Amino acid sequence: MLIDSHCHLDFDEFNPDRDAILARATAAGVDAFLTIGIRVRQFARVLAVAEQYDNVYCTVGTLPHFADEERDVTTAELVAQTAHPKVIGIGEAGLDTFFGNASWDAQIDVFRAHIHAARQTQLPLVIHSVRQDDAMAQILTEESRKGGFPILMHAFSGGPQLAETALSLGAYLSFGGLLTFPENETSRQIAAAAPADRLLVETDAPSLAPVPHQDERNEPALIIHTAQLLADLRHTDLATIGQQTSENFYRLFTKARRSD
Ligand SMILES: [Zn+2]
Repeated sequence: MLIDSHCHLDFDEFNPDRDAILARATAAGVDAFLTIGIRVRQFARVLAVAEQYDNVYCTVGTLPHFADEERDVTTAELVAQTAHPKVIGIGEAGLDTFFGNASWDAQIDVFRAHIHAARQTQLPLVIHSVRQDDAMAQILTEESRKGGFPILMHAFSGGPQLAETALSLGAYLSFGGLLTFPENETSRQIAAAAPADRLLVETDAPSLAPVPHQDERNEPALIIHTAQLLADLRHTDLATIGQQTSENFYRLFTKARRSD
């Protein structure tokens, strides 16, 4: 049993064969999916997928790439969307000056609006953080002092210092295809050493397919490669990783209901 804690099932890449993809994932042992919002103004399409399938949940948020366009998204607007039973988290939101080119001030404003929504609802904040470890650690520390909120660091690619800060704030770390890329030895060390009750797995499909599929369209069934590597790194087996990460998912995402 595995849960894909971060995928983008609403993306056009999946329009031709969404049913088949979910069926393949189910056959591979994936029994729940969290499909992630990246633009609040286009949230309807994310919600539509979550409403269509029993075991698909979703989050609402603005990826930092779209911070300029969605700088006017308010905390109240995010909170209002979480009234829906299938909306179980906030995000993805965060900081990214590597892949994205939104202005820094807009990124900070939008990220803080999401933090406030997570604090107010106590729903997990799914964080996208790329190459901004110091700023991310500082904001999370400062905001947590004003009142805690559940944190999930998605596709964790930060260094040991950010991992330590995040874990000290109660955060969960999620690992996806990046973990399998040869150059990411630091991530593997962090994944090997993180507490067992703070780990999640994900695909970020259709992006970031794990080795040996890295040039293909990613899909949730491929999570097995990341989960197996995580098991190897932690000297355990796939079943144990599946059980631990699924328990962690349901502990963190309190609105998700186990189907069994
Ligand atoms: Zn994503």
